[in-house]
Amino acid sequence: MLGMMQDWEMRVSALLDYAASEQPEREIVTHWADGSETRTDWRGLRRDALKMVQALRRLDVYPEARVATLGMNHARHLTAWFGVTGAGCVLHTINPRLFDDQLDYIVNHAQDRVLLYDAAFQPIVDRMKPRWPTIEHYICFDSGEHAPAFEDWIGREDGAAFWSPGDEHQPCMLCYTSGTTGHPKGVLYSNRTNVLHTLAMIAPSCLAIEPRSCVLPVVPMFHANNWGLPWACAATGAKMVYSQVNDPEVLCRLMEQERVSHVGGVPTVWFSLFQHLDETGADLPPFKVALSGGSAVPYSVVERLMRNGVRVMQAWGMTETSPIATVTWEPPEWDDMSFEEQVAYKSSQGRQVFGSEVRVVSLDGGGAELPHDGTSAGALQVRGGWTIRRYFGETDDATGGGQWFETGDVATISPSGVLRLTDRTKDLIKSGGEWISSVELENAAVRHPDVLEAAAIGVPHPRWTERPVLVVVRRPGAALSEEDLCGFLSGMVAKWWLPDAVEFVAAIPHTGSGKVSKKELRALYRDYRLP
Ligand code: ADP
Repeated sequence: MLGMMQDWEMRVSALLDYAASEQPEREIVTHWADGSETRTDWRGLRRDALKMVQALRRLDVYPEARVATLGMNHARHLTAWFGVTGAGCVLHTINPRLFDDQLDYIVNHAQDRVLLYDAAFQPIVDRMKPRWPTIEHYICFDSGEHAPAFEDWIGREDGAAFWSPGDEHQPCMLCYTSGTTGHPKGVLYSNRTNVLHTLAMIAPSCLAIEPRSCVLPVVPMFHANNWGLPWACAATGAKMVYSQVNDPEVLCRLMEQERVSHVGGVPTVWFSLFQHLDETGADLPPFKVALSGGSAVPYSVVERLMRNGVRVMQAWGMTETSPIATVTWEPPEWDDMSFEEQVAYKSSQGRQVFGSEVRVVSLDGGGAELPHDGTSAGALQVRGGWTIRRYFGETDDATGGGQWFETGDVATISPSGVLRLTDRTKDLIKSGGEWISSVELENAAVRHPDVLEAAAIGVPHPRWTERPVLVVVRRPGAALSEEDLCGFLSGMVAKWWLPDAVEFVAAIPHTGSGKVSKKELRALYRDYRLP
């Protein structure tokens, strides 16, 4: 016997219908790279998205076709999110910072038929066009010097259309992971998984996005579903603020001017914000919630945000988990915790969000589940309502024989369920048959006030297999020495974890998504001779 309730399809277009019906005049603000600002609202965005549905149909682009974007954060890009998915097509957001070979691979793998792009990326389009045979139509989000302009393209339509109906399991979005090994892999979200993820995100114990919220996603729209923020804002009709540029001065002004309540960004966003505030002597704008993810946010950053009254929600997840799987929701004993305990908890990767489960298993490949004791570090696995089953175009599931997806992260889980990432499997430093966590070394180093950024890598060692080298960017003007830093670290990590050398550098290489590129660092230090 089955339940006897209605099958109301969970499609992302229903989210936009809700926003436009309940909060038609809540604004979506864009700060453009040329300094201008434009405003639309949920009603306007819905009308434009429906026009886009008509424009796509006019091009003979029908459900399941892949429509790609190469754009920064702005309202036209948001219109495309809802226009493409509302037409039943699959929105493929491309990271413009990828290398040409990766751009070549993913567009051909996805078989994108249309590309919408920012004029700033015209050089990429010019360079890649001959290598992208599947793309039939190019549309420019800005002025139409080399391709039809987006506003003109949809401007010919009247918006009297309907969303493409269908099963909630139909795909709506495709994001490729940067593929640290091998080719990038495509994660194909369904309408259902995105809506389920949305419902989890807006809950008070998660991000508490609600009708009064004003959300500024600094995280790029091409990064992991924009962390689900556009869907979550539509589900509540929250106001949205986007900036095409990542300038901290602009971001601070927008936060003040638009009364932003929620900001979503990777740790480097907080670093640059604080650097800007230190240089100008300005105060942190009064936003309420900081959603931080992508890589571990240092204790000192959490502390500073919290001292300013910000609720820090560190989340752990990945493209394969839509992306949010765990967050630092406040436990019942929150009010009895000391400030330091609260900061320490918020510096962890948090606890399971209902609908997403995590576990750690032994690193030796045996697969035995490890105890929740806060010290047993193992391979982190995840499963749930919005976790990947199979990569796009593959014939085998990505979850082995079972349901658990191997994340490539190494973590511990405490008795109360608090997840702490200790490393990525491939970044662990293997010394004398034991593992050193590069992440823990880095976290300890960045607690030194003179350290701006730190990255630990293993370099080959004849006796110990590998030994850690710490690559450090000093705060401008600081005279920190290797001895000072090692002295500082010796109070915080085991003696045999102390780096064999500290290299002070002007900058550490980052990947396209703003994370430290361990791959590049390891290549740079491949022939490094330990002192
Ligand atoms: P990639 O970086 O491989 O392109 P993602 O953007 O999907 O892919 O990043 C997922 C990875 O980012 C996770 O597996 C984890 O290593 C790291 N990560 C995400 N959130 C956090 C966090 N809060 N703390 C530490 N690491 C994180």
